[in-house]
Amino acid sequence: MNNTSVSTSTARTPLDWFRPGTIGFIGMHLGCFLVFWVGFSWVALAVAALYYAIRVFALTGFYHRYFSHRAFRTSRWFQFVGAVLGSAALQRGPLWWAAHHRRHHRLSDHEGDVHSPHQVGFWYSHMGWFLNKENFATDFKSVHDFAKYPELRFLDKYDLVVPLAFGGLLFGLGALLEAVAPNLGTTGWQMFVWGFFVSTVAVYHVTYTINSLAHLIGRRRFATKDDSRNNLVLALLTGGEGWHNNHHHYPASARQGFYWWEIDTTYYALVLLSWLGLVWDLKPVPAKVLAQAGRDETDLQAETGRLSPQVEHQRPVSQADSHRHVPLVESASNRGLKATLAAPSQNQLN
Ligand SMILES: [Zn+2]
Ligand SMILES: [Zn+2]
Repeated sequence: MNNTSVSTSTARTPLDWFRPGTIGFIGMHLGCFLVFWVGFSWVALAVAALYYAIRVFALTGFYHRYFSHRAFRTSRWFQFVGAVLGSAALQRGPLWWAAHHRRHHRLSDHEGDVHSPHQVGFWYSHMGWFLNKENFATDFKSVHDFAKYPELRFLDKYDLVVPLAFGGLLFGLGALLEAVAPNLGTTGWQMFVWGFFVSTVAVYHVTYTINSLAHLIGRRRFATKDDSRNNLVLALLTGGEGWHNNHHHYPASARQGFYWWEIDTTYYALVLLSWLGLVWDLKPVPAKVLAQAGRDETDLQAETGRLSPQVEHQRPVSQADSHRHVPLVESASNRGLKATLAAPSQNQLN
């Protein structure tokens, strides 16, 4: 993929229905209907669920917290492992993903945020924005700290290689089990359909909810400049990404559940990997950031008290809102954001 012009306006651009990516995206959904042809087995469902969990972790732990926010450190070979597993989710390469995500944090819910439901509507924010030419290019300047690695550029340029290779492995696994353990009731095609189509489409929509629903439904602990929300259901589905208001307030942290009761399985997995020495320097949530929560909550409750909960809940962020929130945000979250988004001058990998 070449570094062609990158869109900077928010305006919804029409979907490019005949781009290969759009046709492939629709095809992935239609492929799910093949379950009626290949049938069901518990082993195929289990493999699809495991493949879902691995890729959700790779997206949240690596594509998001590592490549987009540098929330921990790792070796070059393990960063590549995370990138390969993430790219198996058919959400393009790590550089494209991180570049768009960094832009989301710079502009969140304001002019130029291409997947803000408040700017472009729910469905476009959920699964329209990446189906057109304008958002196809990778803004390498936004990810220059990682764009220097040829292996990551390879994954970005040939973003179908890994997903198709894994699809082939799924087929091979099913065919092998059919031969050696026919009582499991699976086949190559059955494993392929459940693993490649059904599991991937589930990963798609769970990931997309963070762009769409996590800016619409849930509670706001911090008075961020956007309309990000904390949502337990989304946190459970996405391995901890549902604590999205926390995350927008302090994106630099390796954890998005800021308290023990905010379940964040991605963070638990990162801690496990740190015990194994595979990742290190997991960035914590500073005490002063948590202290901000009480002050912001008081302010948000005062605001909510002036509106009915229903209205407050559905109210889009306006320019006036964003300006009112700015002084609050200026304290901790902007510092965290700047620290996260400022591309380091030197390679921090060991
Ligand atoms: Zn967001
Ligand atoms: Zn983020």
